[in-house]
Amino acid sequence: MNNKNVSTILNQSTFSKEDIVFLLDLSSDNDIDLLFKKAYEVKLQHLSNKAYFRGLIEFSNYCIKDCLYCGIRKSSEVKRFLMSINDISKMSTWAFNNNYGSVTLQSGERTDKDFIEFSNQAIKEIKKVSNDALGITLCLGEQSYDVYQKWFDLKAHRYLLRIETTNEQLYKSIHPNDSLHSLSNRIDCLKSLKKIGYQVGTGVMIGLPNQTTDMLADDILFFKKMDIDMIGMGPFILSKDTPLYDKAISLGLDSTEAKKYRTLLSLKMIAICRIVLKDVNIAATTALQALDPLGREKGLKAGANILMPIITLPKFRKDYQLYDDKPCLDDTADHCKVCLSSRVHSVGDVIGFNKWGDSPHFKKRNLL
Ligand code: SAH
Repeated sequence: MNNKNVSTILNQSTFSKEDIVFLLDLSSDNDIDLLFKKAYEVKLQHLSNKAYFRGLIEFSNYCIKDCLYCGIRKSSEVKRFLMSINDISKMSTWAFNNNYGSVTLQSGERTDKDFIEFSNQAIKEIKKVSNDALGITLCLGEQSYDVYQKWFDLKAHRYLLRIETTNEQLYKSIHPNDSLHSLSNRIDCLKSLKKIGYQVGTGVMIGLPNQTTDMLADDILFFKKMDIDMIGMGPFILSKDTPLYDKAISLGLDSTEAKKYRTLLSLKMIAICRIVLKDVNIAATTALQALDPLGREKGLKAGANILMPIITLPKFRKDYQLYDDKPCLDDTADHCKVCLSSRVHSVGDVIGFNKWGDSPHFKKRNLL
C-alpha cells in the first residue's frame, strides 16, 4: 500500500511504479481533478497551450496482420482499398492550404515491394505539393531497417508504432500466436527507428480485456526507459466481427459504465504520462471521442498537445473503421478542421498553425 496522498505524489519529480499505480487507481472526483490540473500545469511549463494538427491520411486498409481487436484485420470482410497518389496529392494540398503543419500517413500493414514503393511516392508527393513545408509522421507498422531508413531519407521524420501493451501475456491474448505478431519484434522496430533518427512515438490501448493498472504502469515505465518522444494512445473499443468482441461483451466491456471507466482511465494515462515524461508530445486521439463526445477536449485538458484531424477523403472513411462508432465518418476535412478548432479553443488552448510542433523531448535528447 502507498501511504502517501495524491498531492505529495504529484509534487514529486520522479515516480515509482507504486506511485503510478496509485494515480491510475484514483477514484474520488477531487483527486482526479488534482491529477488533471497538475498535468495541464506541466504541459504549460514544458510545452505551451499550443495544440498541433497532424492531418490524418488513412490511405489503405489492406493488412497482412490479424490482430484480434482490429476492424481491418486480414480476416475481416471489409471492402479493401488503396488510394491513388493523386488522392494523396489532393489531401496533402488541402492540409498545406489550410495551414496544417504536418500530416500523418497511416494504413493497414503490408511489407511487399508495391506497398513500399507506394509509400515512397506518397512521402515524395507530400513534400512536393508543400515545397517541403509539411512535416510527415508515418504510422505504417513493422518494417525492415532499410525500409525505415529509406522513408527517413525521403524526409519523413516522425514514426508512430504503438506497442499496444508491454505485457507479454496480454499481448499474446490479443494477437495470433505467430511470428508476424511478436512483441519483441515491435520493440526491435522502435529501437531501429530511434537509431535512424526519427522522432519515435508509441502507445497502448487502454482498458483491454484482463488489463490491469499494474500493467499500464509498466507501460508508462517502458515509455520512459525507451526514451520515447511521442505518445499516441486511447481506449480499447469493441469492434464487431473481431475475435475480441465476444470476449469483451462477456466481460461487460460494452456497458455505459465500462465505457466511462475506459475513457477516464485513458485520460488518467495521458495525465500521468505528461507528469512523468513531461516534455513529450501526446495525442488526444479520435478513439477518445468515440467513447465520449468531449473526449478530445478532455484529453487536451489532461495534458495532451497533439490532435490528428482526419483528412481522409470521405469516400474511403467507412472502410477504415478499426473499431465501432468511429466518429467523423460522414465529415469532410473542412468539417473536421472547424470542429477541432472549436474544441481546442473551448479549453483555452490555441492551434499552432503552419508549425511542425516537434517533440521538445526529441530536441533535448539530440542536444545531449
Ligand atoms: N498498421 C499500423 C497502423 C495500425 S492502426 C501499425 O501497426 O502501426 C493504429 C492503431 O489503432 C493501432 O496501433 C491500435 O492501437 C489502434 N486500434 C486498432 N483497433 C482498435 C480497437 N478496436 N480499439 C482501439 N484502438 C484500436
